[in-house]
Amino acid sequence: MKTQIVEIIRDTLSSLDKKDIQATPKNYSKEFYTQALEKDANIADLELLQNTIKSLDYNEQKLVVENNYNTYSELSQILLNRISLDELREFVFVIEELLQPSINYEIEEKIEYLTQKLIDDPKLILSKDTARNLRTISHERIDLDRLVVREKASDIVKLTTLMGKYFEKSIIQSGDSMTEVIGIKNEIEDLSLSKHTNREIGLLQTKLIDTVYNLENTIEKNHVELKQRQDDFNNLHETIQQLQKDLEKEKEQKHIDYLTGLLNRRAYEIEIKKFEKKYKVFDSSFAIIFLDIDHFKKINDNYGHDCGDFVLKTFGQILKMLTRDEDKVVRYGGEEFVTLIRYDEEKDVIKYLKRIKNLIGKNNFVYNNIKIKIKFCAGVALRTNYESYADTINYADKLLYKAKHTGRDKIILDDNTII
Ligand code: GH3
Ligand code: MG
Ligand code: MG
Repeated sequence: MKTQIVEIIRDTLSSLDKKDIQATPKNYSKEFYTQALEKDANIADLELLQNTIKSLDYNEQKLVVENNYNTYSELSQILLNRISLDELREFVFVIEELLQPSINYEIEEKIEYLTQKLIDDPKLILSKDTARNLRTISHERIDLDRLVVREKASDIVKLTTLMGKYFEKSIIQSGDSMTEVIGIKNEIEDLSLSKHTNREIGLLQTKLIDTVYNLENTIEKNHVELKQRQDDFNNLHETIQQLQKDLEKEKEQKHIDYLTGLLNRRAYEIEIKKFEKKYKVFDSSFAIIFLDIDHFKKINDNYGHDCGDFVLKTFGQILKMLTRDEDKVVRYGGEEFVTLIRYDEEKDVIKYLKRIKNLIGKNNFVYNNIKIKIKFCAGVALRTNYESYADTINYADKLLYKAKHTGRDKIILDDNTII
């Protein structure tokens, strides 16, 4: 076998030499194959080549026979032709589709130029140049798309920032901010958009401007309504305030004696409870003083009812004048009065009573040039000496009664002190 191959090699070389053909690898292998076939040599390489030829389709085998192809390089040409031009063209269309820009259309021309070249000569698709071109274009396309996305994002941010400001300022609608609102609105209108975002963002910008105008109308309308409501509200507020005042006055009047302007008996019932509460909680001592004008009926009888009224008013004024604001003076009924006095020391109550007695006793009441002497009786009970405030009241009343029946013109305290 080895000698047979050596023989084939030798014959191959001499045959080439005779034909004056150079022993290049291609020429050599072609001649080697011819020599080996003539000698019917049993070589694995040959068998492999024959099997490859057998695996070709009918037309391809025909080509092999017609052209006497017997090398792998010749066979590879046949195999290459298997990809038809139509198939390649189809492939070019796919590439064109794949390259179509979705965002930035600037690169469209370049893509068109390349694909047209490939459609004209589809085999170019297999060249290194084409591969390089395709790579460059696809990179460029990605970069351009990125640029557009960046510009769009930045325009959207600009618009939304302005809109945000607009809403914020529209809501706080003071004089100053209104000017700012108009400024921002103009900024939105004048906002220059990047070249690539003109189309979509421009639409958005228009929509936003519409919104701004609608919003302005709504705000303006609401403002008018709000103003109207505010006026209504103010009127209502005034009415309520007036009603409240009337009510308070009414409430006060319910507790005020019409003739003397002092607290009446109804108010007394409330005040005595307040004094009692303070006594219980803070141990705040108080005295209940019942006063009754002596022979008052005679004044009415002698000088008339109006004069009686005058005396009652004046008597009440004197009591009020001599009593501290935090203490209370009450017209209990008819010509009877009660004062409620808080004190720290009992002697302060005595002083108070003496002041009343002196002022009333030493002065005349003058009515229509008529000088009238007024005397009175009083019963005084200190809360601290009794179980309850009701007991205190009863005892003060009892002492007043006692004063009336023991000569009048006297004040009797519950420790039997007489003033
Ligand atoms: P005493 O010394 O015992 O207290 O005798 P008095 O006359 O003061 O007492 P009495 O209870 O007998 O008479 C009270 C009179 O006061 C009777 C009533 O007509 C009169 N009076 C009651 N309220 C008023 C009033 O508002 N105005 C006037 N002018 N008189 C009144
Ligand atoms: Mg009386
Ligand atoms: Mg009386």
